[in-house]
Amino acid sequence: MATSHPVSKVVVVGGGIFGVSTAVHLARLGIETILVNYGPLANGASGRSLAWLNSARKRSAEYHRLRMIGIDRYRTLSARYPDAAWLRFDGGLTWDADDASNEIADVFAHEKGLGYDAQHLSAVAIASVTPGAAASAVTPQGAIFNPGEGWVDLPSLIDVLIAEFVERGGRLVTDAGRATVTVVDGRATGATTTSGIGFPADAVLLATGGDVPRMVAASGQHIADGTPVALLVRTKPVNLPLRAVLNTPRVAVRPTPDGALALDSAWSEEEVGVNSDGTYSVKDSTVRGLLDEASKVLDGHPKLELETYGVGPKPIPGDGEPVFGQLKDIKGYYLAFSHSGATLGLIAGELLADEIATGREHPLLAGFRPARFS
Ligand SMILES: Cc1cc2nc3c(=O)[nH]c(=O)nc-3n(C[C@H](O)[C@H](O)[C@H](O)COP(=O)(O)OP(=O)(O)OC[C@H]3O[C@@H](n4cnc5c(N)ncnc54)[C@H](O)[C@@H]3O)c2cc1C
Repeated sequence: MATSHPVSKVVVVGGGIFGVSTAVHLARLGIETILVNYGPLANGASGRSLAWLNSARKRSAEYHRLRMIGIDRYRTLSARYPDAAWLRFDGGLTWDADDASNEIADVFAHEKGLGYDAQHLSAVAIASVTPGAAASAVTPQGAIFNPGEGWVDLPSLIDVLIAEFVERGGRLVTDAGRATVTVVDGRATGATTTSGIGFPADAVLLATGGDVPRMVAASGQHIADGTPVALLVRTKPVNLPLRAVLNTPRVAVRPTPDGALALDSAWSEEEVGVNSDGTYSVKDSTVRGLLDEASKVLDGHPKLELETYGVGPKPIPGDGEPVFGQLKDIKGYYLAFSHSGATLGLIAGELLADEIATGREHPLLAGFRPARFS
């Protein structure tokens, strides 16, 4: 299942974190790389992500391992940019609802068993580790503080990576409209934009977020899709001491580089309407509800005001696990499609670039091949 090698020219379709990260890693390997994006960079999920860097709670051992290595790459980046306002490791605090669904004790035991840094804290103890969180909102089962977690502002990271990509001679084509992957005689031969401009290549990475399943279906390939529509609300800047990411029953909260907060939740996602023309409807009551829920979990219950919100697909494969690597039936046609793309962004780009450049499958991606859906 190797691509014909050597590969000297690659087209990456999609300018979110997976596309940009893979493109810069390819450029570092000396591969001539063209990145083609529909609109401006980061105009998909990467531009409206909570972007909590974590491997909290339960998942497959392989997925946990990949996420931990993903966090490690961010640690390295953080050491290079120690003062970056867009990449912080100030921990994450999680609590569950006070009902039968509460899994805090079980999750804490699981995380400890893995050696995932975790502290099980009562409400009174949280002020000392996560200033800014409202102790009164923590349920009687307590909260888990994970000191090793963090967050990244993906548009800022994309800016940093793309500057290096261009400096290394990478070619960036933005506002290109919808590109399609060209396949001839069972192998990918490049990409073509709607205006008919062709980008021939030895291999193609499709990293178009929530559009991946639909686009590979055009080449007769099946990837199970569980992509929902998600909402991310950003507040106006607030002067609060919160540094950690909060994951609470009704809202997730993380600081932003400009001193504001980014908010999302499962319930608000479900309230987004999808119109017949493909646009979305977001109710004022949903946005207000999310701001109010965030206020409840913050010390002093500050009044939060809306700055802006983003809405659109949150890429999630049908079985919840990442999809990385080459299609079994189309040589030179690689995919990157996953939830938790913030956590995985750097490592996925590194490993995919290595696979594309060398034709050798990396063992860390063995459990995540597209072929599992065939
Ligand atoms: C609300 C929300 C919260 C999240 N929270 C977290 C979290 O806490 N932690 C975490 O790790 N991850 C989180 N994620 C997930 C993470 O943000 C995504 O997995 C990641 O951003 C996906 O990146 P991507 O490159 O696959 O896709 P995208 O960022 O969607 O980029 C795809 C790009 O492809 C372009 N494109 C699409 N079709 C075409 C085409 N035909 N031709 C050319 N270009 C095309 C789009 O314009 C877009 O720029 C969250 C996501 C959302 C939405």
